Amino acid sequence: MKFTPVLLPAIIETIADVIEKNAVEVTDLDQALGDGDHVINLQRGIDALMEERAGLTQLGWVDAWQKIGMTLMASVGGASGSLYGTLFIALSKAGRDKDLTLQSFADVFSQGVEAVKKRGRSDLGEKTLLDVYIPVANYLHTASIDLVPLADVLENVSKVAVAGVESTRNMLATKGRASFLEERSLGHIDAGAKTAQLMISAIIDVLSKQLTLPS
Ligand code: ADP
Ligand code: MG
Repeated sequence: MKFTPVLLPAIIETIADVIEKNAVEVTDLDQALGDGDHVINLQRGIDALMEERAGLTQLGWVDAWQKIGMTLMASVGGASGSLYGTLFIALSKAGRDKDLTLQSFADVFSQGVEAVKKRGRSDLGEKTLLDVYIPVANYLHTASIDLVPLADVLENVSKVAVAGVESTRNMLATKGRASFLEERSLGHIDAGAKTAQLMISAIIDVLSKQLTLPS
């Protein structure tokens, strides 16, 4: 992958911001279905990445993803820590020796999501963050085959992520702490799906701004 990750500091800062702005709402969600620590867990990881953000720009994408994965694995804790650690380490492995294009990224991202599925022993429809990541991976795959222009891809990914969060509302949780609630998990959206969508939309905001800059 030849591009350097110069946008990573802006992406990390934007994610920190959006998670902070939605902290109360997400904590309420994780209290309804889990143990209420999801935001604190994520913020531990985000704080660690904030410390590293300048150094990350000196690496290639593959090494930056690897470092992000190791950092999240070590700092986040909770189910989401190992899932996000797994995602980035898998992106790094899958991206090695590839140029970064929409086509290659769609493939790399799918492999990352597959690794998360394995790690969590979970799949679509179980009321988790995978109800956002799997539809996004599927959309990226379709868009890369159909040669959808990048600006449209970014816009559509945001919409797919929002629909993914909403899809968790009427799902029965079968994985993670929420599964202990059985039928009582119905009617609430999943906290991990919500933060996945917030973070994806934050990344897209940064990328979209870059696309509209005069060259
Ligand atoms: P914990 O559940 O250990 O307290 P967090 O609160 O940080 O960890 O994260 C909870 C989120 O992690 C859930 O909302 C769900 O989206 C996701 N999650 C939990 N277990 C799994 C799993 N087995 N597979 C996929 N996602 C999961
Ligand atoms: Mg929790």
